[in-house]
Amino acid sequence: MSQKAALVSGPSAHDGVSDSPIRVLRPRRASPEMTVRPTRAEIDLAAVRGNLRALRKVAGRARIWAVLKADGYGHGAPAVARTLERSGVDGVAVALLEEAIELRDAGIRAPVLVMGGYYGRAYEELLAHDLVPVVYDASHFEQLARAIRLVGHQDRVLVHLKIDTGMSRLGVRPEHLRGLLEVAAAFPQIVVDGVMTHFSSADVPGEEGEAAMLEQLATFARGLATVRKAGHAPRFVHASNSAALLGAASLAAARGVDDARFDAVRPGIALFGVSPSDHLPCPELRPTLRVRSEIVSLRTVPAGTPIGYGQTFRASRDTVIATVPMGYADGLPRALSNAGSMLVRGRRAPIVGSLSMDLATLDVTDVPGASLRDEVVAVGEQRGALGRDEITVQEIARLAGLIPWDVMTSISRRVPRFYRDF
Ligand SMILES: *Cc1c(COP(=O)(O)O)cnc(C)c1O
Repeated sequence: MSQKAALVSGPSAHDGVSDSPIRVLRPRRASPEMTVRPTRAEIDLAAVRGNLRALRKVAGRARIWAVLKADGYGHGAPAVARTLERSGVDGVAVALLEEAIELRDAGIRAPVLVMGGYYGRAYEELLAHDLVPVVYDASHFEQLARAIRLVGHQDRVLVHLKIDTGMSRLGVRPEHLRGLLEVAAAFPQIVVDGVMTHFSSADVPGEEGEAAMLEQLATFARGLATVRKAGHAPRFVHASNSAALLGAASLAAARGVDDARFDAVRPGIALFGVSPSDHLPCPELRPTLRVRSEIVSLRTVPAGTPIGYGQTFRASRDTVIATVPMGYADGLPRALSNAGSMLVRGRRAPIVGSLSMDLATLDVTDVPGASLRDEVVAVGEQRGALGRDEITVQEIARLAGLIPWDVMTSISRRVPRFYRDF
């Protein structure tokens, strides 16, 4: 990725401190050309495409806005967005204005929704890059209108209005919705083209999750009616993340409620082949991320030899230790120390000793033939001389007390992303 900075200018929205331009910088990530170390992430763009197809079937008539925040869940947002755009995705959603600008700079032309609702001093950038902001506060309308005046923007500006139905995080509270719509009425050039909310518990199994969903759906329905009564005709009503999308049909069938799919859905993690919960299986989804390296050092140590920082592991037999140049600074959870494993020759080898910043040590005593330069897989599938196995993001999350989202988005910028598209 280039270090190119988007120039963001304009008056301060909040602090009034400075009118000087601010620069939106993106951190540089290791690129394949710069790679010496054999550690890398392999992104399967064909699998991303397949997952979009699978989700389309679940979404039915609802359009799909692919959520590509946090650099496309660690996969590299521009490459994933390009792939999805070519597959006809209806739109893309990110959290940050910076993330949206990066996609436009990469040539993405699909609608881009900025969900974070924070635009700082950069409202003009929304207009300059033809982005769709999520709004929920009077100041959003006022600042946007001010930017429209400043740059002499002639066209209508589309926004999506967010209603807080139960996350208590972003969005207009239902009791303030009418007041906000009155403010909005003063700015006819700003068009409420979408109305959205976000579920707190779509991935919580059983009664508890269902009750929370039903309550939020009811609140959302009332808010939606209020918005329509105020004269708006949003083309996009949307609420569902991956979990809500995968559970929508059964919820609607079981409870006869409004279908949570509405006009559009916002899957994130499912596009990357991970079902958000074991109770929401979607067998067609395929993993898109593989993290691999190679054995760079091999040694046989006698029984009793300590391994690694703090001597948290001691060999109980003559042990073959393989050293792999991949550690917690690459994003592997340190909780995998003495708990996780990696694949060598198609077989699991336990991580022994504590995971270092840059290195991991594996016990490969039971991996006959393990040699220098052998491939080591920390995340994903491996087929090798000894068989086939797979370490999923879900497994790592479970072992480390994390969630799959956390594991995926933690693969650090030091790990170059290689793309495969067949
Ligand atoms: C992250 C996010 C999503 C996607 O969530 P997944 O669980 O990854 O599908 C959808 N909507 C909003 C508002 C989000 O922040």
